[in-house]
Amino acid sequence: MYINGQWQQASSGKSFDVFNPADGDRIGSVPDGGREDAERAIAAASTAAPAWSARTAYERSAILRRAWELMLARADELARLMSTEQGKPVKAARFEVQYAADFLLWFAEEAKRLYGETIPSARADQRFLVAHQPVGVVAAITPWNYPVSMLTRKLAPALAAGCTVVLKPAESTPLCARAVFEILHEAGLPAGVANLVTAADPRPIGEVFTSHPAVRKITFTGSTAVGKALARDAAATMKRMSMELGGHAPFIVFPDADPEHAAKGAAGVKFLNTGQACISPNRMFVHRAILDAFVHTLAQRIGKLRAGLGLDPDVAIGPLNNEAALAKVARQVEDAVAKGAQLVCGGERLHLPGLEKGCFYAPTLLTGVTPDMQIYREETFGPVAAVIPFDDTDDILAMANDTDYGLAAYVYTRDIARAFRMFEGLRFGIIGINDINPTSAAAPFGGMKESGLGREGAREGIFEYLETKLGGFAV
Ligand code: ADP
Repeated sequence: MYINGQWQQASSGKSFDVFNPADGDRIGSVPDGGREDAERAIAAASTAAPAWSARTAYERSAILRRAWELMLARADELARLMSTEQGKPVKAARFEVQYAADFLLWFAEEAKRLYGETIPSARADQRFLVAHQPVGVVAAITPWNYPVSMLTRKLAPALAAGCTVVLKPAESTPLCARAVFEILHEAGLPAGVANLVTAADPRPIGEVFTSHPAVRKITFTGSTAVGKALARDAAATMKRMSMELGGHAPFIVFPDADPEHAAKGAAGVKFLNTGQACISPNRMFVHRAILDAFVHTLAQRIGKLRAGLGLDPDVAIGPLNNEAALAKVARQVEDAVAKGAQLVCGGERLHLPGLEKGCFYAPTLLTGVTPDMQIYREETFGPVAAVIPFDDTDDILAMANDTDYGLAAYVYTRDIARAFRMFEGLRFGIIGINDINPTSAAAPFGGMKESGLGREGAREGIFEYLETKLGGFAV
């Protein structure tokens, strides 16, 4: 763990092992932190806060910029580590490192642009001044699916804003987190400004984070269920909150779209990270007029996806994170087939030579999916494309919005008026119009409804870590 600028063991002296999810090999071990460690880290962050927030934005920016340089310099090494620890193909891991580094640079730049404003008053003797100040100590909890970029997406804006941080990474990917903190340390971040607490059991750490009076903000990326529980607990001390939670993205293909182009896009985004992404399409609404061409191209693309060890350059599909995740995917597919969906390809666990311990599931295509099936409502988080044929284009907006989630949505159409209507009508935070990658450090990422609170990245991303202060001056 990294507390107060030093690498430390857990107070209990315990540690836990980390495994490669593809073959089950033990690849390392990290301290198993508990309450006491979380409290120590919060104390270090509290002590460091006044001096860090008093630094100029230019000084904070320079450190983040050095971290950006260091991360890019060791991008290949980090990508290999990520592939080994998380299972994703090394090429995808390399893209993630670039995306992660982008946040360091973007917020190094934004640190210098935290402008306030003056507001004219109705009183001749009064002046209003609005300024922004860091919220204080931030507690961050991050997931395993993007084990480097989900850290920098929180750390970079928090540090740029002048906050100090305690971060708990997911228990299956602490080595990537350690590598990120090594970079921050080498970049010259002062002691106590960012602290890392690793733990096999997240619950006691979460309890300390949400109840400790010194923590002023909780930022979380993970499942909706855990996000709601953290928000409930943090409400007792009215902490600021950012929540980036689950999704159930619609992917809508109108009859005027090119079905092949749309199917290639669908294959590209659906099987990224083996479907383990909150912006993964979960319901593919395809107009019946182009259904056959779409399904044919998608099946062809799926046929080319090889599963295996992420370090193998030809592999596109890594393992699922654990047995429970695989069981959930299998249950959704079985349920859909039992209720009448057609299985075009996949639909089974893969047993790969030498990788028997890995949770591999075949890339799967279901068509004829209907609203009574579990996959129509539940987030899948796995490599299953679920196609729902539709006939009436007037119904589609209501069908797409009929979900408790509201993170990402995708639309394929060549009709500009339709594109605008969909962009404006979809109750989702991120809309890709003929675009499967509407994400960037420069663009606000986040969801509506039960997909969360707040935005990460972009100008919005840093305001999540700032308070607004008003001054009224009688002159
Ligand atoms: P996923 O289903 O993607 O694993 P989780 O929400 O379970 O999502 O995990 C995301 C992060 O939340 C991880 O860092 C995990 O350790 C943490 N987490 C899970 N349960 C709790 C909890 N009860 N309190 C605090 N953190 C938790």
